[in-house]
Amino acid sequence: MMEKLKKMKKFMLPAMMWLIFETIAVTLWLTKQNLFYLFNFSYIGTALAIGFLLFQFQYRHARRVAQFLVGTYMFVYLGLICNENMQIEGFWYYLFTGVFEAATIHYAVAKIFGPLIFGRGWCGFACWTAMVLDLLPYKTPQHPRKKWGFIRYIMFALSFLFVAALFLAQTNHMERIMFWTFLIGNGLYYLVGIVLAFTLKDNRAFCKYICPVAVFLKPMSYFSLLRVKCDKDKCISCGKCKKVCPMDVDVTDNSRKRENGTECILCYECVKACPKNAL
Ligand code: SF4
Ligand code: SF4
Ligand code: SF4
Repeated sequence: MMEKLKKMKKFMLPAMMWLIFETIAVTLWLTKQNLFYLFNFSYIGTALAIGFLLFQFQYRHARRVAQFLVGTYMFVYLGLICNENMQIEGFWYYLFTGVFEAATIHYAVAKIFGPLIFGRGWCGFACWTAMVLDLLPYKTPQHPRKKWGFIRYIMFALSFLFVAALFLAQTNHMERIMFWTFLIGNGLYYLVGIVLAFTLKDNRAFCKYICPVAVFLKPMSYFSLLRVKCDKDKCISCGKCKKVCPMDVDVTDNSRKRENGTECILCYECVKACPKNAL
């Protein structure tokens, strides 16, 4: 009986994830009368559920599978083939035009309201920038964190001002400009991300200091339902969880104000490393 219950528990999180995305898929399909939303969110939900399921069965590369399934779909299919700018500039662009489509829906689900449920799961399981950065050699930071987080706010403001200036100047061919912004912006993100990773010996340096999307993600994930928590009765304070954390989170502190708490990308490296199954 206990064995059966344990097995069922392993399916619960992936099933919940799939159901959330399926609900979004069906709701958007029916309200927007567009079959694309059914396909899009069903695909993303299924890819994430596969990743979570593989993780429950302790497959080493579970997260990477989801990251590649979602990341390549969004970057190659939506970005390069369908010409949708899913970067932050694309979000501002669609917001200014008053269209609740593509990037605005993507931001609402993955980066603004979704994090209230699944925190920064986007950063751990789906982002196409991190999909490449996570391949680099510095999976855990080799030096203490720098106080450079303010750069992301400058990037955020610049992205907003750039799109606002295009609108104010009543620029022609905005769709084309947005596509090129997507290409050049991504190229720059990869370049800066890779250079920073090697310079600071930290694969996720770009996420910690530069990425403007974190301006949305951080405050929303503060309230996240899904969090890694520590069972204090089991914990022996060995510090292994903090050592392997790519984002320098003090996961042994269960409070929402824990050190770097809004940086957690739900990668579960700490859970895998804990010798006492305390997380
Ligand atoms: S912080 Fe930005 S670059 Fe890093 S994983 Fe999140 S969205 Fe991607
Ligand atoms: S190692 Fe744990 S605390 Fe750190 S980012 Fe991953 S899930 Fe969050
Ligand atoms: S790895 Fe586990 S036992 Fe060690 S400090 Fe972290 S939670 Fe506690």
